[in-house]
Amino acid sequence: MSDRDFDLFVIGAGSGGVRAARMAAGFGARVAVAEDRYMGGTCVNVGCVPKKLYVYASEFGKSFEDARGFGWSSSEKAFEWSTLRDNKKTEISRLNSIYRNLLAGVDATVFDGRARIVDPHTIAVGEDQFTTERILIATGGWPYIPEFPGSELAITSNEVFDLETFPQRLLVIGGGYIAVEFSGIFNGLGSKVTQLYRGPLFLRGFDEDVRQHAAKEIPKTGVDLRFNTNVTKLERTNGAILATLTSGDSLEVDAVLVAAGRRPNLEGLGIENTAVHLNEKGFIAVDEHYQTAEPSVFALGDVIGGMELTPVALAEGMALARRLYGDLKREVEYDFIATAVFCQPNIGTVGFTEEEARETFAKITLYKSEFRPMKHTISGRDERTFMKLIVDDASDRVVGVHMMGPDAGEIIQGIAIALKAGATKAVFDATIGIHPTAAEEFVTMREPWSAG
Ligand code: NDP
Repeated sequence: MSDRDFDLFVIGAGSGGVRAARMAAGFGARVAVAEDRYMGGTCVNVGCVPKKLYVYASEFGKSFEDARGFGWSSSEKAFEWSTLRDNKKTEISRLNSIYRNLLAGVDATVFDGRARIVDPHTIAVGEDQFTTERILIATGGWPYIPEFPGSELAITSNEVFDLETFPQRLLVIGGGYIAVEFSGIFNGLGSKVTQLYRGPLFLRGFDEDVRQHAAKEIPKTGVDLRFNTNVTKLERTNGAILATLTSGDSLEVDAVLVAAGRRPNLEGLGIENTAVHLNEKGFIAVDEHYQTAEPSVFALGDVIGGMELTPVALAEGMALARRLYGDLKREVEYDFIATAVFCQPNIGTVGFTEEEARETFAKITLYKSEFRPMKHTISGRDERTFMKLIVDDASDRVVGVHMMGPDAGEIIQGIAIALKAGATKAVFDATIGIHPTAAEEFVTMREPWSAG
């Protein structure tokens, strides 16, 4: 123990920061956490959690229609935005309190204010200054809006959850996780959604077949999905927003959501008072132990620009606390991290895309399946599921699994365990399926796919 005020001063009470703080304090470190916005960070307040609640909300509309084929009838459906928004607020407040209590429970000192690094061992919060042995930067990311005429009229994922009035017409710009998820949410809730992606095919970085499948399926849900199109100008017109597009078209909408990626949240942090530097992408540069160029300063989570996912930040926070104050037995492993895009239906993915697998392995075999989910044989909904396995021929290991279909986000988690354990195609084949499910298809794909 040093004679400084704290052993570890964590800046940012998001997923990574809180996990590191709790674990470090649990190991006996004297910990402080500063947060100037909301306990729980992006995930709890303007990310994963409210997003998933809104995804649930958005699925009901279609379920009412699906139910008809099963004999149910219902009176006219009506959706009230304020009910969803306000119930969401209540739930998020509950979670904020849980986060605060978790920190209080391990005797961490919480400062509700913005922390600034004064020097490698001193932090200022408002007028007060504190000394600390180590500093952890876990300030996360912040949505980025590219500059174009009228861009100040656009909103980001920070604002979209709490809109005062429901946008009957929504323009979404971007082709990544956030754009795709919110197009699905607002489309499901009843907005007329137009989504623009600047390139020929959205969801860059995902398996090409999944991207193609999503490009076929999403428009069927009602989203007006336009590729090779961007916005050039936004103007305010009689209570609405007029968007001019690169195609020359114009569009009148009630709100414009820009989801063009996120940047590290570094404003006012004071890293210039240390040797901390940024990597070529503008994120905080760290070594494999999350240590910056300043030996007393560490950083993890979205601010270091790896996979911007809550479970990754949690794992990093846990590993750092164990390394510094406990007993780290296993480093964070970044292979076979499953992710899901909660569009409708979901995309679930783990391991190599076909393109990456072709670069990594001498020879691969593909297994693909596309089918109509059983439920929709009676619901009549025009939706198809896609599944794909990628196998490394040399080892027979399954190295990539990709799916778009109902519950893909749930299904892929179990598959990720199998891949992490090194499961071969022979193991998949020897696994007996659960009938009737969509997931059983993963253990019954026998015939390799061939281009013919
Ligand atoms: P992404 O990086 O996933 O996508 C950004 C999108 O914006 C891309 O389609 C990109 O196009 C496009 N874009 C970038 N700049 C411009 C521009 N100037 N004009 C028009 N389009 C532009 O970012 P998101 O904001 O969607 O999400 C941030 C991160 O948050 C994700 O990468 C993910 O890690 C995480 N996240 C995870 C979720 C989950 O796990 N379900 C949910 C939401 C977020 P291009 O491809 O051409 O560069």
